[in-house]
Formats: sequence, C-alpha cells, structure tokens
Amino acid sequence: MFDKVKELAEEIKSVRVKTQEDLENYRLRFISKKGAFPSLFQQMKDIPNEKKKEFGQAINEIKQLAQDRFKEFINELNGNENDNLESSFDLTLPAEDSIGSIHPISATRNTIIDIFKRIGFNVEDGPEIENDWHNFTALNFPPDHPAREMQDTFFIEKNPDMLLRTHTSNVQIRLMNKQKPPIRSIMPGRVFRNEAISARAHCIFHQVEGLFVDENVSFQDLKATLYHFSKEMFGKDTQIRFRPSYFPFTEPSAEIDVSCFICGGKGCNICKYTGWVEIAGAGMVDPNVLSNCEIDPEKYTGFAFGMGIERITMLKYQIKDLRLFTENDIRFLKQFKTVQW
Ligand SMILES: [Zn+2]
Repeated sequence: MFDKVKELAEEIKSVRVKTQEDLENYRLRFISKKGAFPSLFQQMKDIPNEKKKEFGQAINEIKQLAQDRFKEFINELNGNENDNLESSFDLTLPAEDSIGSIHPISATRNTIIDIFKRIGFNVEDGPEIENDWHNFTALNFPPDHPAREMQDTFFIEKNPDMLLRTHTSNVQIRLMNKQKPPIRSIMPGRVFRNEAISARAHCIFHQVEGLFVDENVSFQDLKATLYHFSKEMFGKDTQIRFRPSYFPFTEPSAEIDVSCFICGGKGCNICKYTGWVEIAGAGMVDPNVLSNCEIDPEKYTGFAFGMGIERITMLKYQIKDLRLFTENDIRFLKQFKTVQW
C-alpha cells in the first residue's frame, strides 16, 4: 500500500501545467473530492493497526504537496496571462491623454489681471451675497430709481434686501470704505442676474472692474489706461473709441469699443461689419459715490471701468454660445490645452 502512496507522490511531482485545461485536470485528479486521495484513505481499513498512523501521515504529506503545487500552478498561469495581456498592448500608441487644461474664462481673467498688475493695479475681492447698500444705494442707485431695472436681480431677502451681486462694483464700495486714496485696484469676480439662459445671456457670468481714485485723476487717464489694456489684450494695432453712455455710478460715462481684431476694422461677421466690438463700460466716478464712501469729491477724482470676461473670451476665441463655458463638455475644454496666460 505504501507503494501506491509513493507512486502518487511521483505522479504529482511529474505533472506540468501549461494551460487552464491542464490546471483543471490536475484539480480533478488531486484536489477534488472525487480524486485520488479519498480512495487512498478508503484503503486505510486494509492497513494493519500498527501501520495506520504511518500510512495516514504519508498520505497527508503528499496531499499537502498536491495542494502546494496547485497553488504554484495557479500563480504561474496567472503570471503568464498577465504577460500575454502586456504584450497585447500597442506600445507605439500615444500615451493616454489625461492632463487637464485651464478653463478659457480663467485664462482670460488671468491675462486681464496680468496686464493691469504690470501698470500698478492690485486685485481686490469681495462677497457674492451682498446687501442693498453695497450693490445699489452707495453706487448712486437711489431707491425706486428706474436704473435698478437695468439689472434684473436675484433677491435672497427683502426688507432689508440681501441679494446676489449684479456686478463686482460692491467690491469698489467696500474698498473705498476701508482704504483712502490713492486706490488703484481691479476686481475680478462672479456676478448674477436674473436672465433667461441662452447662447447670448446667462444668469451667472464674470466681470473685471477697475477703480483708480487719487488727486487729479482725469478722463485722459481713463482713456490711456484702457488704450494700453486693449493693445496688450488684443494686439498692438488695436484702436479704441468711446461712445457716450449712462451709468448711475459714473459721470460722464462711456461705452468702449475696440477695433475688430479679427478683420482689423474692415468688417466681418464678428463685428457685424462695423469694424468695432464693444468690450467695456467706463466713466469718471460720480461725486455722490465718493461721498457715500466718505472720500472728499472736492479733493479726489477717480475713474472706473467694467468688462465681461465671457464677452472678451467669446471674441478672442470666436465662441458663439455662452452656455459652453458652464456645460463642462470635455470636447470643448480640450480645445484650450495650448492656451497660455
Ligand atoms: Zn470684424
């Protein structure tokens, strides 16, 4: 009987497993409950009592051997499979493209900040949820004045009014409250208006406003500053023009156009064949606004301007639909991979 045990041990040692089928055959022969071992154990009854212990130990040893080898075979086969998987990759394919890109709105904002920083403007920030005073009244929107209707507002609370800021001008008021002239800052940020979402309008968008208050600040300073900005932003040949306009917080007020940087002013569908595209609103800070912030309008003057980051980004990259900025469609965002700022 001991010979049978030895034979089985030799058999186990001689097995070679190269495929899953080999492995399954091995399992059926040496591991499963219908394999070689149960029948060996059954022969225990024919063994003389004094040999039973030795026989049982011998079977258990080779049973352990069979199980150890089974584990080895599994590891070897899985290892081989991994090798096959690796060799099935085409190593000449381009690497997976998972590096992100800067959002076009961020790129434009950063470019604008960079231009103004170089001429001495710092960056100011303020709250997006604002009270009536900082968003309207201090900016010379009297209560019940029709100018308030120019900006459809999301109110959070009424009496006293709390609202989502409709422009970043609230930061100008907060800045003038805490800092006396000279003030030379820009205020980039998110603003909210109750507009139906379409290709040309959104309820959330971004502005950059600027404020310069000091002694003897003139309209000439405003023109020179925006002229410099336009050339830096859109190219050295860019021209600007001022059209008279109205804002409650500036007097006089103007809307600013730049010569179309697509057609160079000859006329194209971007500029609607006028040669000019509107980029900003601006003006001299109304003396009432300075007074509201306890800055003496007899001593100090200032200019302010504001521009839409989406508007400039759409012009710069000829994007036709405002909604693309917030849809987070990776096919859109990937197109800005090479954008530097
Ligand atoms: Zn044009």
